[in-house]
Amino acid sequence: MAKYFQEEIETMPVEQLKALQEEKFLKQVKFVYENNEYYRNLMDEKGIKPEDIKSMDDIQKLPFLTKSDLREAYPYGLLSKPLKDCVRIQSTSGTTGRRVVAFYTQHDLDIWEECCARAIVAVGGSNKDVVQVAYGYGLFTGGAGLHGGSHKVGSLTLPMSSGNTERQIQFMRDLNATILCCTPSYAAYIGEKLHDMGLTPDDINLKAGIFGAEPWTEEMRQNIEKSLGIKAYDIYGLTEISGPGVSFECEAQTGMHINEDHFYAEVIDPDTGEVLPEGSEGELVFTSLDKEAFPLLRYRTRDLVVLKREKCPCGRTHIKMCKPKGRSDDMMIIRGVNVFPSQIETVLLKCGYTPNYQILVDRVGNEDTFDINVELSEEQFKKYREESDLDAARKSLTSAMVTMLGIRPKMHLLAPKSIVRSEGKAVRIIDKRKLHD
Ligand code: ADP
Ligand code: ZN
Repeated sequence: MAKYFQEEIETMPVEQLKALQEEKFLKQVKFVYENNEYYRNLMDEKGIKPEDIKSMDDIQKLPFLTKSDLREAYPYGLLSKPLKDCVRIQSTSGTTGRRVVAFYTQHDLDIWEECCARAIVAVGGSNKDVVQVAYGYGLFTGGAGLHGGSHKVGSLTLPMSSGNTERQIQFMRDLNATILCCTPSYAAYIGEKLHDMGLTPDDINLKAGIFGAEPWTEEMRQNIEKSLGIKAYDIYGLTEISGPGVSFECEAQTGMHINEDHFYAEVIDPDTGEVLPEGSEGELVFTSLDKEAFPLLRYRTRDLVVLKREKCPCGRTHIKMCKPKGRSDDMMIIRGVNVFPSQIETVLLKCGYTPNYQILVDRVGNEDTFDINVELSEEQFKKYREESDLDAARKSLTSAMVTMLGIRPKMHLLAPKSIVRSEGKAVRIIDKRKLHD
């Protein structure tokens, strides 16, 4: 069975890969300058011309693009090809504000789908597999990306979209799905539903899952692997750069290989914009090297990561990024302390709780309030019948949170099934302070 979808590219010696990136980059800068007024203006403001960009290192001279540029340029401002050459749009989920629309030519769709195909082959997928795509279809890139990738691999594709979880499980069983693609929170829900239907992982044929589009922890990975009896792999991407498949995990599961022949990655200090050396944590910035319709240069993702280039047992040479710790704008500052939802998820799952939780932050007077609702499992619910048992459990969970976070949340242990399940990106944080501002 093939180990790679595009072996030559995926295992290309690093020097050669860097030369390829540089060649594409120099062309791309010229193309964008000539075809995109918005970015040309940004370059002109900085006094930079394409001729000033002579090597990959010169990328540091180029201006950044941010989400607010994309909003300002909405809808056509960053389009670099005539509309007659475009064949598709997709749009962000609007997790943190107004949606952004991205355009694709057929070439752009092909490279995006090839990136997703690489991810499918990396988890052992081939034309013998049945790929169940339970990411949402439509404007969201999750469904379309993995769907296209599965076609490119030649797998039998089940275009389920998200939702209708019992039907997902029925199709999964009747059609012997082997690879599941969806958000990790939805995978956890499917695992829970399987259990509720009186079924076990032995009743399904899944071997692997490709999960992404939202942050998830190692503890969540173990939870999903157990409930579905599979190996769970991470995939990362964003609409602005194409969609899922910008990077993906291989069998080594020590970070996600960035598809460097298409996307050049930098890590910067989010406060100063300074490029940081490999191995430092900072904000991920992408330059699309060969997209046509929507070729963003130096796009600030707001995702916090560490990049590392190392010899990977899988044989791929492309640089790896760690799981994003969360977006810089997912980070909450509560009573002056930085808190990431992923820290809370880690504590909950380590302490044997369900991945069904919600974080509520508000402000009363000048004081931040910080509450965490977490659901008990059926077993815990039976076990903690006595108020005193529940109290003891709450105390011990609270102190584990204090150790991790450095501040004390008010923990609420809720009855099973009291928090609404996610079929797409889970909404973990309700920060009402923003309403008062
Ligand atoms: P929106 O920005 O509206 O959510 P997208 O659907 O394009 O739009 O989401 C892209 C974002 O989703 C990324 O910037 C990142 O924050 C998050 N994301 C995607 N994949 C992962 C992943 N595997 N792990 C953590 N976060 C992810
Ligand atoms: Zn690898």
